Amino acid sequence: MESTEKRQKNVSKTLRVLNKKEHLPQGLIRLFTKILALQLEAHTHVSVDFSGFDFPSLCRSVGQGGSCLSPQNFPLDNKNGVALFFRIVALITDPAEEIPEPIVRAAGEVARGIETKTLDLEQAFRESLSGEGPIHTAWAQRTPEAPGILRFLMLASLEPSLHAVEQILGDHLHGDGKVSVIRQTGTCPICGNLPYILELRGKEGVRFALCSLCRHEYRIRRLACPVCDSNDFDKIAYFTVEEEPGFRVETCESCNTYMKTIDFRGLDRQACPEFNDLESMALDYLAAKQGLKRSTLSVWGI
Ligand SMILES: [Zn+2]
Ligand SMILES: [Zn+2]
Repeated sequence: MESTEKRQKNVSKTLRVLNKKEHLPQGLIRLFTKILALQLEAHTHVSVDFSGFDFPSLCRSVGQGGSCLSPQNFPLDNKNGVALFFRIVALITDPAEEIPEPIVRAAGEVARGIETKTLDLEQAFRESLSGEGPIHTAWAQRTPEAPGILRFLMLASLEPSLHAVEQILGDHLHGDGKVSVIRQTGTCPICGNLPYILELRGKEGVRFALCSLCRHEYRIRRLACPVCDSNDFDKIAYFTVEEEPGFRVETCESCNTYMKTIDFRGLDRQACPEFNDLESMALDYLAAKQGLKRSTLSVWGI
């Protein structure tokens, strides 16, 4: 497991690369970095309750391409989530942070909803795990300038809980922590969601997927679309551009989607996927120009 210290060092290195890219939203990147620091701190005192869960039965369907737990059934540390929520809102609404005004207003509105009890935070947490629901629909209309703000705040606040669940179930699935089983579908064995990015590692280019919800890392087949599982070589392809070394875009004509892949094997760099995804945003524009869809948002909700 990557130590927090090593991870923070790696994040700082990656941020230096991002800071040089002037076309990227630097204010938001600064905000995400601070949110990540708050999340890492919250990891030290998060506690999820797995009593009553039977691990062997949770892991049973994974071999058949299923997942351990549907995200709606994840045990959550709501107390940890609520505390983190208010810390994140305080950060966003701090004038010194210079966050774009529509985001500040929308985040303030959500916080007021919770303080006045017109928004039930625990229900909103639960709903954010499935991607949508009546609370999220209502709040997207209430904050039209930043319609994704509620889900962003909920998932950012729940990240320590999701991480704790991922760690516990990951240990049960992989035992000694070695990820050796190659998954035949693209979905996450822990929560069933699709990856937000892929990475090639090692001499042979072992292909890893990084889950867009619980951030679990798992091995997948090298030559198949992670979204629709097609392995029709006439339909799957990839492209690279000179301006974005270390990245490629894998495309699939069968389901009309693309997914970015980090390939730092020939470079003196370590992957830091949640920020590498932002760093390579130019590739998302190029793929969209070709009419291809991205199947998940970034872990930052953009
Ligand atoms: Zn997952
Ligand atoms: Zn596909």
